Amino acid sequence: MWLAIITKIIGLIQPFLSVAKPQKGEGKMNKRVYIDEEECIGCGSCEEICPEVFKLDEGSQKAEVIKPEGGPEALIEEAIETCPVECIHWEE
Ligand code: SF4
Repeated sequence: MWLAIITKIIGLIQPFLSVAKPQKGEGKMNKRVYIDEEECIGCGSCEEICPEVFKLDEGSQKAEVIKPEGGPEALIEEAIETCPVECIHWEE
């Protein structure tokens, strides 16, 4: 009986005791992404993968970062890894 009561009390106060840690891709990033536009060949891969952060400028045919302070980090990483000329980088 006491065990059931203690378990119930712990269950009730648990939300107030625990601090949720941000998961990968959540929260504010302390790094920014940028594109070396001289190297960009305008393939559009980054925009396809993460349109929230990258946009292909139709005039210059170069990609630009439209949201450098954030976005889904996993997708930004994927865009970096798949850029054929490796011109997307993180800056701290
Ligand atoms: Fe340019 Fe790389 Fe984006 Fe292709 S993936 S548009 S080369 S920045």
